[in-house]
Amino acid sequence: MSLSRRKLLGTAAVAAAAAKAARAAPAVSRPVAVSSANGMRAVERAVRGMNAGEDPLDAAIAGVNIVEDDPADMTVGYGGVPNEEGVVQLDACVMHGPTARAGAVASLEGVKNPSKVARLVMQTTDHILLVGPGARHFATMNGFPVENLLTEKARKVWLFWKQNLSDNDKWLEPDPAHYDPDVKAFIDEFGWDDLRRPKSGGTIHLSALNARGDLAGCTTTSGLFFKMPGRVGDSPIIGAGCFTDNDVGSAGSTGRGEANILVSGGHLTVEFMRQGKHPRDACLMTLERIARTTKERRLLNAQGRPNFSIAFYAVNKQGQYGGATMYSHGSTGKRRQFAVADASGARKEDTVYLFEGRV
Ligand code: ASP
Repeated sequence: MSLSRRKLLGTAAVAAAAAKAARAAPAVSRPVAVSSANGMRAVERAVRGMNAGEDPLDAAIAGVNIVEDDPADMTVGYGGVPNEEGVVQLDACVMHGPTARAGAVASLEGVKNPSKVARLVMQTTDHILLVGPGARHFATMNGFPVENLLTEKARKVWLFWKQNLSDNDKWLEPDPAHYDPDVKAFIDEFGWDDLRRPKSGGTIHLSALNARGDLAGCTTTSGLFFKMPGRVGDSPIIGAGCFTDNDVGSAGSTGRGEANILVSGGHLTVEFMRQGKHPRDACLMTLERIARTTKERRLLNAQGRPNFSIAFYAVNKQGQYGGATMYSHGSTGKRRQFAVADASGARKEDTVYLFEGRV
């Protein structure tokens, strides 16, 4: 598909989303928290915290901690899928609207709540981003225990990936009739149709707005599955995985971090909101920018569209919110959604999207 055709499609999608929103015109309420679809309990916790007077960033972090601690979520924190060497390396960042400060850690090993470490980088240092052994040393100095973050399920999935990686090594491919149940469950969850090129999917971003109109954002992840050791994605990059401006709004992302970093998507989404765009449309416009700037053939499908999934989530100072995805459906055929909580409780809503269909 030509670039102009792709652009047209995106513009139509933005206009259609705006028209639909104008018809629906939901009442806005504060506090509100918006996150990726895996954050139902997180947005609920964040809003509960803000209702009790918690700072929006503390509420956001308490929310995402639930997901970091949960071994069943294999894309964040404890139980995350490891890198190509079987080591879990975590990335996270936080941004606090009222003070315009931020903190982040990347390639952090052995500490299951990187979002809490990122907050301490923000609060207690002159720096914004600590990585690798430096981040770990900082965490242990602050009393964080060092734990084994690789669960049995994640280890089995990693070994299975290694066994299927190549015909030219000494590993034999497991017999499909006898796959381990944990591995089978993982394949079903993530739509792993090509065993050598598993799709990644996960991370949690959460943006929060309290009743006074103060904003915060937080993103935390174990990163792309089987990434190279030391690879840092968008999640800990302020301006990419997360960006918060207390005068405007907060936004963040999940999905292919490399694509987000190239457009500084978190910052771009906030800038679109600054221009008056609804958060949902701002997210969609950032995806449009990513589609337009994705030029490498290996990253495009037969229609010339990005062949990866990526999503943005945003809330503005008024309490309007939105979530947008590159495709309407995930690789398993599930409709893409995001999580939100406000005075009406916590729920999932369908994302708006640039392209109809599965990634
Ligand atoms: N954005 C994350 C990263 O690139 C991965 C994901 O959300 O799936 O590390």
